Amino acid sequence: MMQELISFFVTVSQTLVKNIPISLALAAAFTVLTSFWACNPGRPWWKKNDIITDLCYWFFIPVITRYLRIGLLVVGAALIFQITTAEGLVAFYDNGHGPLAALPLVAQMIIFLLGEDIILYWTHRWFHGAAMWKYHAVHHSSEELEWISAARFHPINLFLGSVAADVAMLLIGISPNVLVVLGPLTIAHSAFVHANLDWTLGPFKYVIAGPVFHRWHHTAADRGGEKNFAATFPILDVLFGTFYMPAGELPDRYGIDERGYPASFQGQLVHPFIR
Ligand SMILES: [Zn+2]
Ligand SMILES: [Zn+2]
Repeated sequence: MMQELISFFVTVSQTLVKNIPISLALAAAFTVLTSFWACNPGRPWWKKNDIITDLCYWFFIPVITRYLRIGLLVVGAALIFQITTAEGLVAFYDNGHGPLAALPLVAQMIIFLLGEDIILYWTHRWFHGAAMWKYHAVHHSSEELEWISAARFHPINLFLGSVAADVAMLLIGISPNVLVVLGPLTIAHSAFVHANLDWTLGPFKYVIAGPVFHRWHHTAADRGGEKNFAATFPILDVLFGTFYMPAGELPDRYGIDERGYPASFQGQLVHPFIR
């Protein structure tokens, strides 16, 4: 028991430490970029109101994601493929399986990105519905939207959103090796779309999600709050009629319309269950 507890804490610390270099790089990059191209000029990100809450999410969400993903991978393989032994799981997930795993890694990455984004587009819309909003409200609760706000997700949102989408793509056969490359890129891109930058990306706004595209999604429901659901490819919003980037305008005023919404990390985690 003691041995397991120690190895659990070692893994948690390793996940935390692994996050430090990319966090420092992103902090430096967005500090410089925002000083030139702020979408909403004001105080720097480290002086924002709920910076402690953001930091808690930033460092603990990767740890929580890791365990939720491992759990769902094990359950998925057992339920769908009747694989229940440790060796069986290792062999099954080691390098993917079936025809998709035979494709070059780059092709698998493209399929992973497209498949994942289609799943996430629809789960994101589901989380904006009446039943699930209480979990997703956490993500929209930042009033000073900055790159560091990117990891604000309730674990339920995380589990039924990006974790489920990742696992679905691995269960259809994609090699987990794609995550080694795409993992850090996804973190960087997610920080980028939340960054306080006035970048519309010009004609590329339909190709890849950028800061102005996603910052609109964090505005009120009667502005862009019920639009721009795509995580990576805005073309999905164009296809499904939810693309919103009014010309010559920049988003402002973010957050949710709920009085007394908790500002702390622990307060937000329990809020969906007690309100
Ligand atoms: Zn949303
Ligand atoms: Zn967001």
